[in-house]
Amino acid sequence: MVAIIESSPGPSAISEEELSDASAADECLSVVRGYVSGQWPRQRDVDPRAAGFFQVRDELSVHGQLLLRGDRLVVPAALRERVLTNAHAGHQGVVRTKQRLRERFWWPRLDRQVRDLLKSCEVCSQHDGHVRRERPPLQPIPLPDGPWQRLMVDVIGPMRGPSSERYGIVLVDMYSRWPEVALCQDATADSICQFLETVFAREDGAEHVLPGGGRVLQHKQSAKQLSNGESPCFYGMLFCSDASLGL
Ligand SMILES: [Zn+2]
Repeated sequence: MVAIIESSPGPSAISEEELSDASAADECLSVVRGYVSGQWPRQRDVDPRAAGFFQVRDELSVHGQLLLRGDRLVVPAALRERVLTNAHAGHQGVVRTKQRLRERFWWPRLDRQVRDLLKSCEVCSQHDGHVRRERPPLQPIPLPDGPWQRLMVDVIGPMRGPSSERYGIVLVDMYSRWPEVALCQDATADSICQFLETVFAREDGAEHVLPGGGRVLQHKQSAKQLSNGESPCFYGMLFCSDASLGL
């Protein structure tokens, strides 16, 4: 327990005595300690002050005046602001500050308090923005020379509605952005191939389908990837076709 307190980050470390005293004086933690040492009532009979602890009741344990969730310390309300301030000292942004706290501490609504504290901090918001910018950039797909040379296929669903219309197989011509869609009961490789064969029987010029390539009868593998959710998703195009189809 001493190790937990001494490793508390920041300039305002909390002593074990402070923690024990604050924990003993905390009315809410006293109620929870009573439940953990004895027995939890039914959820509707739980003291409202302890309501935030009910869902994690099986992970709680009492050590003297202290309450632990697993190996994390439940910080009494009087010390939470100091713990937050210490964790915020490095201005690591919301995500890393939450990670840092969660390793050693817990209390109900911890995440919300971190967000509320850091939302007005310009340094942290810049850091979070920097983290977002580190995502790999989207790769543009070259525009083909004409219609039906390169197509994109994806599956949407499951959707609400009749069981025969749970999934939508969507095909978009990358040149014209012309959409084709079939609603079906499932999104198996057979359903996707049947849909492609129907479209290609009508359109002689269709040459390639992403992912993969080649004629429709060679698309079993691509269709399997789609039905397994393994294919890349082309959301930009799909949203475009969804809108035009009124889906
Ligand atoms: Zn900050």
